[in-house]
Amino acid sequence: MTTTINHWVGGRLVEGTSGRTSPVFNPATGEQTGSVALASSDEVNAVVASALRAAVDWKNVSLSRRAAIVFKFRELLAARVDELARVITAEHGKVLADALGEIARGLENVEFATGVPQMMKGGFSEDVSTGVDVYSIRQPLGVVAGITPFNFPVMVPLWMCANAIATGNAFILKPSEKDPSASLFLARLWQEADLPDGVFSVLQGDKEAVDGLLTHADVSAVSFVGSTPIARYIYETGTKAGKRVQALGGAKNHMVVLPDADVEMAADAAVSAGYGAAGERCMAVSVVVAVGNVADPLVDAIATRIPKLIVGDGARKDTDMGPLITAEHRDKVAGYVAAGEEAGANVVIDGRSSPVPSIGFFLGATLLDDVRTDMSVYRDEIFGPVLSVLRVASFDEAIAVINANQFGNGTAIFTRDGGAARRFQREIQVGMIGINVPIPAPVSYYSFGGWKASLFGDSHIYGPEGVNFYTRGKVVTSRWPDPTNSTVDLGFPQTR
Ligand code: NAD
Repeated sequence: MTTTINHWVGGRLVEGTSGRTSPVFNPATGEQTGSVALASSDEVNAVVASALRAAVDWKNVSLSRRAAIVFKFRELLAARVDELARVITAEHGKVLADALGEIARGLENVEFATGVPQMMKGGFSEDVSTGVDVYSIRQPLGVVAGITPFNFPVMVPLWMCANAIATGNAFILKPSEKDPSASLFLARLWQEADLPDGVFSVLQGDKEAVDGLLTHADVSAVSFVGSTPIARYIYETGTKAGKRVQALGGAKNHMVVLPDADVEMAADAAVSAGYGAAGERCMAVSVVVAVGNVADPLVDAIATRIPKLIVGDGARKDTDMGPLITAEHRDKVAGYVAAGEEAGANVVIDGRSSPVPSIGFFLGATLLDDVRTDMSVYRDEIFGPVLSVLRVASFDEAIAVINANQFGNGTAIFTRDGGAARRFQREIQVGMIGINVPIPAPVSYYSFGGWKASLFGDSHIYGPEGVNFYTRGKVVTSRWPDPTNSTVDLGFPQTR
């Protein structure tokens, strides 16, 4: 039996009226488990109208009350992580430990947002001129929208909505149509946390819903996370409509291993960061850049680890790697492996012939050696369990390769040399850098964002930049005459 996954508007589930739906699968079995409503432009108008009504009152709710609601949401979410992890795994396919990890990273953002009274503080300059003070305040934008990818159906919405709501906005989530159920779980928790109806809404849908939000006059800002071509489109369309837009795109993350690195540690990192969540992470390591003579022992160390990975249903406790999101995506990833082989890459471990469950959208972990930068397996974001090894002669060459890549989301270096690490951090044109840390996704009190084709707009997401993104500054210049000169007797000794 399949379920229907609907919208959440004005504090309740609302059935879709467009007549259009999209199938939702359990990727571990290949079975369709649901149908998600796809909103029409009329439904976009209805959800924005509801959010706009809610935003009027929400911005006047005190900072301490808003913080208290975010605190309560945090407690409710923390109490139900196991249940929510199962919801994620059933539609995404990632293993439960990964689903729990994504919720934990999302919870960090909720915790950050509980500090909203501190973050909304402005500045004050007394007596910039005689009797004149200047101060700054920050105010919410109104209605803001978040458009999110399939690969983190809880964490990425929390990157956005925690700060957007805490700072006094009404937030409309347009989740991925591939794993939409987690969005409704979050909606119910916000309601239980006493968030007024309409402040958090869910609009299920595809391009039509997105286009409606991007051009709606009452949507003030759009946060987007997804692939680079769509991120570029969102940025161009949203800014053309006069909106504030932050659009995070795709990635091709390199992990540099210097000859002095701890090879076992680097191999562990490459395997967990390359194949975790079946490589469907924007911070996944996709290319291992092996410098000099570290390449042979490193490739051997990675290759010996891969057969030990248990590939299967993510809902089973002993699984290391789950399926890919759809059958089409699995076939696309397998096509990249074929193209790499054709172009001359050395297929050290071939995931296409690894033992994986016969049902579901599975593909084994693949290791390609001797990859060159002109191969499609190197150039494109694959978003699957494929690690490419690029052999380079020098550290300089490693830096040059990464800086020439179109993406600049995350990167890592493995070395024992502090000077090399420091040089890497200074010269590399990438937004997030790990030093002996393969997935350097910043904690919630820093902001997350890449460079180049990994981010359109100038604002990174969550943390301090997230608070700025969801608020507008005002500066007030005020003059109050000296009360001792008042014509009304205020009880001061008269000086005149
Ligand atoms: P996607 O770009 O296909 O979809 C993202 C969102 O955009 C979804 O809500 C989808 O419904 C919507 N969308 C899709 N096509 C659209 C169109 N033509 N017009 C308007 N909206 C459209 O991305 P995905 O496959 O869901 O997610 C994977 C991608 O997201 C990868 O490229 C990954 O690197 C990226 N990602 C990036 C980050 C980051 O922080 N930079 C984080 C997570 C994922």
